[in-house]
Amino acid sequence: MAKIIDGKAIAKKLRAVVKAQTEQLKQKGVIPGLVVILIGNDPASEIYVRNKERAAEKVGVNARTIKYPASATEAEVLAKIEALNQDEQVDAILVQSPMPAQFNSEVIQAAISPAKDVDGFHPLNIGKLFANRSGYYPVANTPRGIMTMLKHEGVALAGKNILVVGRSILVGRPMFALLERANATVTLAHRYTPIDTLKLLAQQADVVIVATGVVNLIQGSDLKAGAVVIDVGINRLADGKLVGDVDFSSASQVASAITPVPGGVGPMTIATLLQTTVELAGQHHDIEMEQAWQNI
Ligand code: NAD
Repeated sequence: MAKIIDGKAIAKKLRAVVKAQTEQLKQKGVIPGLVVILIGNDPASEIYVRNKERAAEKVGVNARTIKYPASATEAEVLAKIEALNQDEQVDAILVQSPMPAQFNSEVIQAAISPAKDVDGFHPLNIGKLFANRSGYYPVANTPRGIMTMLKHEGVALAGKNILVVGRSILVGRPMFALLERANATVTLAHRYTPIDTLKLLAQQADVVIVATGVVNLIQGSDLKAGAVVIDVGINRLADGKLVGDVDFSSASQVASAITPVPGGVGPMTIATLLQTTVELAGQHHDIEMEQAWQNI
């Protein structure tokens, strides 16, 4: 029976570290500022944004949400982003996805200053990640949170065979880059990967990370014995139950460790967003902070 990786508990430790960092910054007169832009009234986004605000407040990050109606124009949001780029009180900016159809998310992502790009979606930051450039730059929070989890669980990555399923800019692609940077051999599968090929690849993988939004895509019988399974998917079934992309009951019989849904990757994403916000504030004000994440 696999160990269940407790994302909630690891996120709690990470938030405590972030709180200690905000206290350090406060002593130097800096309160990290996060601005979330929410366009339209997607109910799931409203819940996410509220959770982000609440979590931010608890660790001493000054978070506020700027709301626009679904009818807002790209030009008015771009003008606001430009003002926030110039605002000394603001260290981190994110625009909640999905955006209404009249918005080009690539244009919005590129408008946020790379130094305030808390989601790590700016092409400059993505380019640095894929080029494995040195120095600090923000990286997408879900895959980064997964790296923290793997480290916390003592999962060795160098030389390991890792399968990432899903290639979005939010999860799969930056996940691939982070794992490759950690010297793993990484395969990136996606919707055009034939299901038989996907299953063969999964059987060879030491770690399987699934971010597709497809219920039960990976079963226990697809896995190598002792594999580590990270399930990023969040899917709501007709009966209201939340499940991931992996069939938890069969996979947990074969894996050595597995993340649950909910309570696995989700809490890590928000805690990592706060971690990145505080780092950006430190960068912005030229304050060196201990890299205390290593010790969680
Ligand atoms: P997305 O729709 O942007 O991308 C889905 C990816 O899955 C695509 O790259 C696609 O090629 C791939 N895919 C689809 N069907 C497939 C199949 N049959 N076989 C192999 N690959 C397939 O989604 P996303 O934003 O990357 O999110 C993926 C899932 O993760 C969703 O369920 C989302 O809710 C969840 N998610 C969770 C968190 C979290 O914090 N836990 C964060 C982000 C996303």
